[in-house]
Amino acid sequence: MTVVDRQEWDVVVVGAGGAGLRAAIEARERGARTAVVCKSLFGKAHTVMAEGGIAAAMANVNTGDNWKVHFRDTLRGGKFLNQWRMAELHAREAPQRVWELETWGALFDRTEDGRISQRNFGGHEYPRLAHVGDRTGLELIRTLQQKVVALQQEDFRETGDHESRLKVFQECTVTRVLKDGPHACGVFGYERESGRFFVLEAPAVVLATGGIGKSFKVTSNSWEYTGDGHALALLAGAPLLNMEFVQFHPTGMVWPPSVKGILVTESVRGDGGVLRNSEGERFMFDYVPDVFKEKYAESEEEGDRWYDDPDHNRRPPELLPRDEVARAINAEVKAGRGSPHGGVFLDVSTRMPAEVIKRRLPSMYHQFKELADVDITAEAMEVGPTCHYVMGGIAVDSDTAAARGVPGLFAAGEVAGGMHGSNRLGGNSLSDLLVFGRRAGWHAAEHAAGRERPRVDDAQVDAAAAEALRPFSAESGSREDTDARPPENPYTLHQELQQTMNDLVGIIRREPEMEQALRKLAELRARARRAGVEGHRQFNPGWHLALDLRNMLLVSECVARAALERTESRGGHTREDHSAMERAWRNVNLLCSMADPTGGAAATSPERGQIVLTRETTEPVRPDLLALFEKEELVKYLSEEELYE
Ligand code: FAD
Repeated sequence: MTVVDRQEWDVVVVGAGGAGLRAAIEARERGARTAVVCKSLFGKAHTVMAEGGIAAAMANVNTGDNWKVHFRDTLRGGKFLNQWRMAELHAREAPQRVWELETWGALFDRTEDGRISQRNFGGHEYPRLAHVGDRTGLELIRTLQQKVVALQQEDFRETGDHESRLKVFQECTVTRVLKDGPHACGVFGYERESGRFFVLEAPAVVLATGGIGKSFKVTSNSWEYTGDGHALALLAGAPLLNMEFVQFHPTGMVWPPSVKGILVTESVRGDGGVLRNSEGERFMFDYVPDVFKEKYAESEEEGDRWYDDPDHNRRPPELLPRDEVARAINAEVKAGRGSPHGGVFLDVSTRMPAEVIKRRLPSMYHQFKELADVDITAEAMEVGPTCHYVMGGIAVDSDTAAARGVPGLFAAGEVAGGMHGSNRLGGNSLSDLLVFGRRAGWHAAEHAAGRERPRVDDAQVDAAAAEALRPFSAESGSREDTDARPPENPYTLHQELQQTMNDLVGIIRREPEMEQALRKLAELRARARRAGVEGHRQFNPGWHLALDLRNMLLVSECVARAALERTESRGGHTREDHSAMERAWRNVNLLCSMADPTGGAAATSPERGQIVLTRETTEPVRPDLLALFEKEELVKYLSEEELYE
């Protein structure tokens, strides 16, 4: 039996980004003793990188806004594949969640009359993003962190121990969700610095681990985004939903190579920035799809007038949803009208005075100055698509955030699926984190209350420890599947995986390429079993990566299999060989599960793959919500049957 530290908690939250912290605060406030585990330092989650803002229909800048308009925009953006109840709850509750942040100490930018200011973003009918310059995520995390500390101080006053009811285990990685029969009963993980293993036992586990971008070569995502929560859920028996939908943000940096993929926030376009090709044309006017034609300006003049008079003009097509803009940029570059480094030009310098640019977009100004030696107040930026966000994720109940199939398991934030359908609107993630983070914490606490403590059996802990230690013995060649071949370098495997996903399952997809990707993934999976590392368990990044590879390979297979299956183009899934959005696919969800529910990664043969896909029909949208749309618009999305009903 492996000796590991064990602790008992009521709720364990994996992840300390916006979703995880909001869940932890809620669970603790509802009386659950709550542990939070995170890979990086407390306060350093990916959410910190969020720039543009939080979408919430507060109607501070345009009184026409309300939750119904936000709901409509979200469904349009997601091309009607959203789990509609999630989109409803999100639109209704987001304003309360933003107000709540202010009561906890956040300070948003203001309008001239002192209200929380809101800015324009792609796909949002009204200015809707509450923001703090272009550093909104930082303020969000700072505020939640401050709230956690305030609760810990309260606990200290009562119990003499700051961490008696809410404790953060930072720089720790969870590698398995443990089960007691069908129920989640805790997590197994290791401390990154010491390599020591630990078990946190709890009747409720919330996964809030963020996204999967590190499976792609060009990405705006940070090192933490290795799809851990997606894989943990799969391995625990919870299915993933619609993994084919991966958002390629239209504007990442393209130059110099060392910073390729770093995000250029959509606020640049929301505040007036325009896209031009190498011939100086504002090409987005040529790329407005039929479903959006009525809502977008037909001329540059009209688009420009909209910034000052949005009630009498239509918005410029630079503010189309992200999937549309990313495809348009891709097409321009492919047609030979790209910028010198393979992107297009994004210009604010001719649209705003320098001091306004520096005030409204301070991070962008510094990012380009320091990383690319470009002064965005005087010249255009070069930008191109970058892998940014995964819409697919753990299938959850809309109201409770409970993961399907595993009682006691919950999921919130980017790791959860459904909310954004086939494409997320900018700003809708930060609000999603707060709305569903709170709901996950609430229902996890309720689930844990009064329940008998689960039983964590030693065999499972031993198996998790053995799995984690495997990279250290890869060299010996003693195991059957190592075949006495030399160990594989985890960094090489990671690079090959990223290249494969970028080239073969990227922004534009084709059947033969995805089949090729699946073959390559099978090869990488076989090689990854021999991923070997040297040295010991004390801070060993090669070892950490070797363990992360299991997760990245699992989610990559989900993305590739689901993308191959969905023979249409919708939102963040574009097929060159099936370029139309098909109404017959509108109500189809694709679910990914482990092919071998008992054995997990190691038990299945590499050729067969590890993932099975099933189709399910989505729940019909509630009639009062459908009534928010014009019939002419619904005809563009819904199937004959749905329309008839
Ligand atoms: P995260 O904030 O990433 O937190 C994940 C947590 O899980 C981290 O603490 C991590 O350490 C932990 N973790 C992961 N795996 C493990 C493991 N195995 N064990 C233990 N802990 C683990 N959205 C908007 O709405 N508005 C914006 O303006 C915006 N701007 C963005 C700008 C950039 C550059 C990027 C990349 C994204 C942006 N987004 C924006 C998207 C948004 O930031 C993310 O979707 C969101 O922050 C995800 O939050 P989360 O709480 O789900 O995950």
